[in-house]
Amino acid sequence: MKRILEQLYAHTRFLVLSHVSPDGDTIGSAVALCLALEKLGKDVVCAVDGDIPEKLGFLTGYFPVHSFADTPKEGYDCIIAVDAGDLGRLGKFGALFEAVGETIVIDHHGTNIGYGKYNLIRPYGATGQIILELLEAMGARVDENMANALYAAISTDTGNFSYSNVDAALLHAAARLREQGADIPMLTERIYHVRSLGATKLLGQALERLQLHCGGRIASLYVLQADYAACGAVKEDCDELINYAREVEGVEIAIFLRETGEKTFKVSLRSKEYADVAKLAMQFQGGGHVHAAGCTAQGSLEEVLGTLLRAAEALL
Ligand code: 5GP
Ligand code: MN
Repeated sequence: MKRILEQLYAHTRFLVLSHVSPDGDTIGSAVALCLALEKLGKDVVCAVDGDIPEKLGFLTGYFPVHSFADTPKEGYDCIIAVDAGDLGRLGKFGALFEAVGETIVIDHHGTNIGYGKYNLIRPYGATGQIILELLEAMGARVDENMANALYAAISTDTGNFSYSNVDAALLHAAARLREQGADIPMLTERIYHVRSLGATKLLGQALERLQLHCGGRIASLYVLQADYAACGAVKEDCDELINYAREVEGVEIAIFLRETGEKTFKVSLRSKEYADVAKLAMQFQGGGHVHAAGCTAQGSLEEVLGTLLRAAEALL
């Protein structure tokens, strides 16, 4: 922590990066960190390779988050990766990260090997909790926008405080954010209780394809690229779909496939009680956590699903 703080004080021009397929933790954490760095008088650019889900768009009102195309590619003396478990999770920004000598990785993924020059990796429920501790160690005043961003980060990575990664320290962090003005009713409504018509139709399509395997202990569903136009949806509308597979009574492992190109699928994996899906994801060069992991797989829908099912069955 102390070495990370020294780096934050020492440099003046920062690029703060979130991971591809950005979620609430990576965007909320990056936005709060950027606000704090700006208060220290630093020049800060926040960026992500990928579209931010509409329901998280309000976070970019606190601090702008640039796309890859509109991010200046040089002029930084330090790059910080937030919530990105490996270099590949930075997408097109990976090369830029590697090219700069001074890099910091702030993350909570158990599979993170520490690919930065400086690494702040703690096994917390969310990266947002690490950022809060960093800001507190800095002596920064956590204002309302920072509190909202970090509450969104912690809430979204813990199933709104419901997963096994919720411990007392994480709840204490949330309590401190509430004290600093986090608007819990507003955040809950925006993040959990709004779904576009397109997303609702996509949900219907995906549910029609829900299948059970291995005597009902594995559930799968998928979304094809053609579904977006047919439903009026966007790929970010896939984010919660895997939960419908996971929640089916008796299911231990849920598999969600999202077609991203010809014979290419982004794979999401979830487990309920005992199966370690991070291990499963690592067999396919991915990673993540015991109960939530992901990877990318090549092949036809049948091939990819068949391969994953065989590997998943071995974990039961
Ligand atoms: P999701 O299924 O929500 O995209 O991801 C679940 C978890 O797995 C997240 O914590 C995410 O960081 C991790 N994850 C997803 N895809 C990948 C991947 O391709 N590589 C690695 N290392 N982690 C991933
Ligand atoms: Mn996270």
